[in-house]
Amino acid sequence: MDHPDPMDLTPPPERLAPSIELPSSALQKPDLKSMSVDDLAEFFATLSERRFRADQLFQAIHAQGVVRFEDVTTFPLTLRQKLSQIAVLGGMTLDSALQSTDGTVKLLMRTAQNERVESVLIPADDRMTQCISSQVGCKMGCTFCLTATMPLRRNLRPSEIVDQVYHARRYLNDSGKKITNVVYMGMGEPLDNFVGVVKSARLLMHPNGAAFGARRITVSTSGLAPRMQEFLDLLPVKLALSLNASDNRTRSAVMPVNRKYDIAEVLAVLESRPWADRQRLTIEYVMLGGVNDTELDARRLANLVRKLGITVNLIPFNPFEGAAYRRPDEDRVNQFARVLVAEHVAVTVRQSRGRDIGAACGMLDGVDGT
Ligand code: SAH
Ligand code: SF4
Repeated sequence: MDHPDPMDLTPPPERLAPSIELPSSALQKPDLKSMSVDDLAEFFATLSERRFRADQLFQAIHAQGVVRFEDVTTFPLTLRQKLSQIAVLGGMTLDSALQSTDGTVKLLMRTAQNERVESVLIPADDRMTQCISSQVGCKMGCTFCLTATMPLRRNLRPSEIVDQVYHARRYLNDSGKKITNVVYMGMGEPLDNFVGVVKSARLLMHPNGAAFGARRITVSTSGLAPRMQEFLDLLPVKLALSLNASDNRTRSAVMPVNRKYDIAEVLAVLESRPWADRQRLTIEYVMLGGVNDTELDARRLANLVRKLGITVNLIPFNPFEGAAYRRPDEDRVNQFARVLVAEHVAVTVRQSRGRDIGAACGMLDGVDGT
C-alpha cells in the first residue's frame, strides 16, 4: 500500500512539520521483522528459497519472539548465516522497567538509533493492557500533552512497534501473565504514521504470530478525518477518537489539529459507519479543570454524540511539570458523567494508573519518570 505522507496541516502552530521516516541510510539491509508473510516470501524467492521458509521465519519472529537469525532453529545453519549477513531483524532494546505502586509497569526502550521510546503495561482484573508508542515525539501540539513538548523525531517502523509488545511478552513471561489488549495510546499520533501502524497491527493480528484478535487492538487518534475513514475501511481493529472539547473554539485552542479537521468533520466520519460497526468506536474526552469540564460542556457533548450511540471515555487530566492545566476533582468528574448518563450517553471514567512513575496518559516523554 502506498501512502504518500504530507498531512498538510495548513494553519499554525509552526511545529507542524511533515512526517519523518527513519533515513534509509540508517538501515540499508532489509528488516525482516517489518515484513508480512507475503513480503518474506518475495524476499526468499530472490534467494531461491521455497515459500515455506517465509512461514517458518514469520512464526519464529512473531510467535516465538526470536531476535537473532542464529536462533531460527527450523533453518539450516547456512541459511541462518546468510541471513545474518544480508538482512536484519529491527526492533528495540529494553533498558529498564519501572514498577508503579498500583501494578502499572513502564518499559523504557531504545531504538537502534538511540532514541528513547516508552510503553506501559496496565493490569486490571483479568486484563493486561499494553499501551504502545507509534512515533518518537509528536507533531500535533496538543497543549495538555507532555509528548507534544518533544518535537517529532520520526515514525517508528513496524518492527519497532511490534517489538514493544514482544519485549513486554518476555518481561511478563516469568509471572505467567499475558498481554490481552494493545492500545496505540503512547507517544505519537498513530494515523500520522499510517503505513507503519497499519502494518504493525496486521503483524500483531496474524494467526501465526502474536495472534491478537482485532477487537483487542485499539488505535487512538487526535482526529485526522480522511485517514480515520481509510483506517476503518482497511482494518477491523478498534478506533478511539480524542475529542476533548465540546465546541470548536476550545478544541482548536487545546488541539491545533481541529483547525484542519473540526468537530463536525471528525464526528461525520464516525457517523458514516454502519450502526453495527460503531461498536468498535469510542470517544475520549480529557477533562481539563475549568476549561472543558462544566455542565454546559457535558450537555453540549451529549448533544454531539447522543445520536451516534458511541461510548464516551472520560480521562481526568494527568498533570505534569509545567502543565498549564489542572485535574478536575472527583466530584466534578462524576457530575460530568452523571449529566452524560442523564442525556442518554454511555460513559466510562478512566482510572489513572501509574501516575507515580509518569506512565499515565499524556505523561510519556521518553524520559525516566521517577
Ligand atoms: N495521539 C493519539 C494517541 C496518544 S494520546 C491521540 O491523541 O489520541 C492518548 C490519549 O491520551 C488521548 O486521548 C489524549 O487526549 C490523552 N492525553 C494526552 N495527554 C493527556 C494528559 N496529560 N492527561 C490525560 N490524558 C491525556
Ligand atoms: Fe500527539 Fe496525541 Fe499528545 Fe496530541 S495527545 S500531542 S496527538 S500524542
